[in-house]
Amino acid sequence: MIIVMLGAPGAGKGTQAGMICEKYGIPHISTGDIFRSNIKNGTELGRKAKAFMDKGQLVPDELTVQLLLDRVAADDCANGYVLDGFPRTIPQAQVLTDALLKNGQKVDKAVNVDVPDENIIRRMSGRRSCPKCGASYHVEFIPPKQEGICDHCGSALVQREDDKPETVKNRLRVYHEQTQPLIEYYEKAGVLATVDGTKNMNDVFADIVKILG
Ligand code: AMP
Repeated sequence: MIIVMLGAPGAGKGTQAGMICEKYGIPHISTGDIFRSNIKNGTELGRKAKAFMDKGQLVPDELTVQLLLDRVAADDCANGYVLDGFPRTIPQAQVLTDALLKNGQKVDKAVNVDVPDENIIRRMSGRRSCPKCGASYHVEFIPPKQEGICDHCGSALVQREDDKPETVKNRLRVYHEQTQPLIEYYEKAGVLATVDGTKNMNDVFADIVKILG
């Protein structure tokens, strides 16, 4: 089963992708996570990607597309996978469609996690994470026991550069201009399913499971 997650940044598609992967035993492939781990490890790719990510822009296709195609060609993807954050543009979707077609495959479902912009801004600007152990928090929805401090390891929590308000606005603009057209693309392909992403995490997941079967 090949699943594409669609939705604005901060719509919760990463969380849902993780839950789908756990239930169906398939890998979770997040291009954003791949870039972030490259940044953490100080690679050349990470250095190049960071310049775009920090501004809320898309990383250029030269750095993104082949990386993704190589990843989905790995052995652990043989029974399917969930793509989270790819494709982000119509050209990326077309590359994916063509690459899959060569293997007689296709995207089985594109799950669109629908959340209005106002909710997105509130969700993203409150996100905090621990730079040491990676734990995630939200100042409003999942606050740490002590403000600004990680419950698990006691480190000072940080806000991702790309979760800062100006960058969030830019990411939403980029989403509407470049990524939202994918909803129609996958609708035309007959594989689109939209879920209400404003519900709580478990209810959204239950709706997704109904769709995936
Ligand atoms: P995400 O964690 O999916 O929100 O991605 C974080 C950032 O990584 C995005 O704002 C982009 O700068 C970059 N990125 C992730 N996936 C892609 C992609 N498919 N194409 C271009 N840039 C991407």
